Amino acid sequence: MVTDETDDTPDRCGAAPAFRSGFVTFVGRPNVGKSSLVNAICGRKISIVSDKPQTTRHRIMGVLTRPGSQLVFVDTPGLHKPVTALGERVNATALDSLDTSPDSVDVTALVLDATKPFGKGDRWVASKLDVPRSIVVVNKVDRASRQQVLDMLAASSELGAAEYFPVSARTGEGLPALVEHLTERLPEGPEYFPDDEVSDLPEERWVAELVREQLLAVTRDELPYSIATEVTEWEWPRIRVDIVVERESQKGMIIGKGGSVLKQAGQRARAQLPDGVYLELRVKVDKNWQHRPDRVERLY
Ligand code: GDP
Repeated sequence: MVTDETDDTPDRCGAAPAFRSGFVTFVGRPNVGKSSLVNAICGRKISIVSDKPQTTRHRIMGVLTRPGSQLVFVDTPGLHKPVTALGERVNATALDSLDTSPDSVDVTALVLDATKPFGKGDRWVASKLDVPRSIVVVNKVDRASRQQVLDMLAASSELGAAEYFPVSARTGEGLPALVEHLTERLPEGPEYFPDDEVSDLPEERWVAELVREQLLAVTRDELPYSIATEVTEWEWPRIRVDIVVERESQKGMIIGKGGSVLKQAGQRARAQLPDGVYLELRVKVDKNWQHRPDRVERLY
C-alpha cells in the first residue's frame, strides 16, 4: 500500500475533526415554501404544509445530523401585517426567532417564491434582516419558467445578500448545494440534538397540528383562521383533540353533512398516526378566540 507521508490531516495526527453545528432560520412571506423546505431537507414531515397561507403558527425546528455536522432549522411563521391578536402573536414569534446581532453565527435565509414577482411584502421581510449576512433562497423553480427564475434573481440581487440559491422543495433540485453551503458556514459547536431526533415539537402539539392540517385540507377556504386544535386527553393509545371554532355556524361546517367532513379529516389524520391509535375529535365553540389575547395565549 502506498501512503502519502506529507498528508497531515487532523485525523492522521490523532485529533478528531471538530464537530460543527448551528442554526438556520427561514423567513419569508406566507406560502413561499418555508415549511416545505425544512421538510424536504430533513427528510420527514415536521411542520404542517398547507395551500392556505399562515397555517404555521409555531416556531418549529427540523434537525439534519450528518457525520461531523448538525444543522438545526427554524421554521418561522410567515411575517405579515397583523390584524388580530393571533396575527400579532404570529409576527412576534417570527421576529423573536431571528438573531440579527452582529456576533450571531446563525444563518438567516430569505425565502422567495419564483412563481410570483418580487414584491413589497418580500422587501418588507428583507428590511427586518441583516441582508449582507443572509442568503436568498428562490424556491419553487420546478413551477417557474427559466425567465421567472432569472427575473427573481435579478430583482432580489438589489438586496445584496451573501449568496443566492434557486431551489425546489418539491423536486429537491438545488437543495444539496444549499445544504453544502450551510454546512460550510457552520461554526464549531455541540450536537444539540441526538442523532435520531428530527424535531423539537412535543408529540401532543404535533398531533394537534396534524388534525388542523387535515381539517384545512378538507374544509372550505373561509375557515382556516378560525380553527385551533388542542389535545385535551392523552392516554396512549387514546387521544382526544378539541377543535375550537369561533361561531356556532362554523361548527356545522367542520362537522359536515352527517359528520362527513369531520370523519374525513379524522381518517386522514389517523392514516399518519401509528396503528392502534384511537383518535377522538370534538368540536367546541369559543367566541372570537382569535381576538382575545388570553385565549390566543392558551391555544396558540
Ligand atoms: P410556508 O407558508 O412558507 O411555510 O409555505 P408551505 O411550505 O406551507 O408551502 C406553501 C405551498 O407551496 C404548499 O402548497 C406547498 O406544497 C407549495 N410548495 C412549497 N414548495 C414548493 C416547490 O418547491 N414547488 C412547488 N411547485 N410548490 C411548492
